[in-house]
Amino acid sequence: MASNYDVVVIGSGPAGYVAAIRAAQLGFSTACVEKWLNKEGKTVFGGTCLNVGCIPSKALLDSSHKYLEAQHHFDLHGITTGKVGIDVPAMIARKDKVVAQLTGGVSGLFAGNKVTGIGGTATVTGPNSVKVVDHDGKEEVLEAKHIIIAAGSVPIDIPPTPVDQDTIVDSTGALEFTAVPKRLGVIGAGVIGLELGSVWARLGSEVTVLEAMEGFLPATDRQVAKEAQKLFTKQGLDIKLGARVTGSKIEGKGAKKTVTVNFTDAEGEKTQTFDKLIVAVGRRPFTQGLVADSVGLEVDERGFVKVNDQCATSVPSIFAVGDAVRGPMLAHKGSEEGVMVVERLAGKQTQVNYALVPSVIYTHPEIAWVGKNEEELSAAGVEYNVGVFPFAASGRALAANDADGFVKLIADKTTDRILGCHIIGASAADLLQQIVIAMEFSASAEDIGLTMFSHPALSEAVHEAALAANGHAIHIGNRKRR
Ligand code: FAD
Ligand code: NAD
Repeated sequence: MASNYDVVVIGSGPAGYVAAIRAAQLGFSTACVEKWLNKEGKTVFGGTCLNVGCIPSKALLDSSHKYLEAQHHFDLHGITTGKVGIDVPAMIARKDKVVAQLTGGVSGLFAGNKVTGIGGTATVTGPNSVKVVDHDGKEEVLEAKHIIIAAGSVPIDIPPTPVDQDTIVDSTGALEFTAVPKRLGVIGAGVIGLELGSVWARLGSEVTVLEAMEGFLPATDRQVAKEAQKLFTKQGLDIKLGARVTGSKIEGKGAKKTVTVNFTDAEGEKTQTFDKLIVAVGRRPFTQGLVADSVGLEVDERGFVKVNDQCATSVPSIFAVGDAVRGPMLAHKGSEEGVMVVERLAGKQTQVNYALVPSVIYTHPEIAWVGKNEEELSAAGVEYNVGVFPFAASGRALAANDADGFVKLIADKTTDRILGCHIIGASAADLLQQIVIAMEFSASAEDIGLTMFSHPALSEAVHEAALAANGHAIHIGNRKRR
């Protein structure tokens, strides 16, 4: 006999679990199906983000940053230590503990909100039916008024470097190294390549990043990308642009295994040998075989479920959210889509403002941006003012010995409305959020300039960048005064 629900969510990543909890809060009987098993073989909720994505990568970024600080910067503060070491298994165990705490937290939230969490693999067999096969092969049919697909994404493989999760790993394998690789290769200078490359570089790996594109971080503001490339190079990342990987060969046995990578760049054919290689060339939607053909769900040529701005699909009872649909593959974007879908089912008019999805790269310094950059505005023929404030002029940044980077705020030349903000610096993600909120309220640079900021705080750099956009920052020389 089938179980009946108002809403069945497939996938419990940040898109799915948030949709399920909000649906239950709104009074819908809700089930969330998840196939992920943890290292102990138990169903865990939380998806890529909590298990092998946002959270574990940030745990390792934080551990490795502390190690670097202790090793190189404590002495500046007058702190003496003995020889600083790194116990990689202990660092990985701490990361696993954080993951377990948070995935357990989702189970607790499901219980508290009366979401039925179901372990198993779901297939959409009809506009209102989902078949679930659990890990013992037992089948169950769920009937649902509404189905939400939140099946997420998986890493992309490339033929020259097949992942074996030992010598050649994807992002998941790169969170599990048991020792610091002496020579680490990374394919892809994107978000994952830079974040995980930084983790292992801080712990002592010689890191080479092979990036196919000629430009560094092409979607990022040029001034920010230039500063980032300079700082990452200084930190020891050897970033090779325009490098096309053509093949690889694993040699040796056990701990002595190495991988030799062939690539071509502007200078011709090259080879380089690594102890570990991370492949981080993007992710693809995890939708293959998820929906029976008879359902008639439209999927694009790359596997993304086709949706409109409200995440409705070609089948009226089915919605799709998160990495499984168009747009940036970001946890917060998926969560907001999940909330929008169920709130609209409850008769609310919720929308997602796709123009204001914040992006962050959690290196040190962090890189964070929202809205338009100068290149996009120039291409669109929009006239703008720019205010830039360097952290080197921030008292708080200097007090913390953490003064790399700057805040750049862009405002419309005529209306002064903020059009974009681009930050490279410590705590850039948190600083940016102030401008995301301001932009949601259509604030002008003057509005930020007239707001009082605590002193001394890093956010004063945001204040000063807004003042600088109108030519009257206090703590730097101004290009023009008004
Ligand atoms: P997912 O989190 O991928 O969850 C989908 C879930 O659906 C999975 O648990 C999967 O098992 C399940 N599923 C799929 N098919 C079925 C099926 N047929 N039956 C049952 N269950 C199914 N984003 C950020 O915003 N900030 C970050 O700092 C960040 N860091 C990242 C670091 C790394 C290393 C990686 C890999 C990603 C990172 N991301 C980050 C991206 C982020 O993880 C994703 O954008 C986010 O997890 C997408 O959420 P989702 O719910 O759409 O999908
Ligand atoms: P990405 O798209 O950020 O970067 C992939 C990089 O690999 C690109 O620069 C691309 O040009 C390069 N590339 C592609 N094919 C290549 C090849 N054959 N040889 C060399 N280089 C090649 O993808 P990612 O870093 O794998 O991350 C996947 C997704 O996960 C991203 O969309 C991102 O949004 C999300 N993510 C977000 C965060 C965050 O928000 N901080 C962190 C990690 C991951």
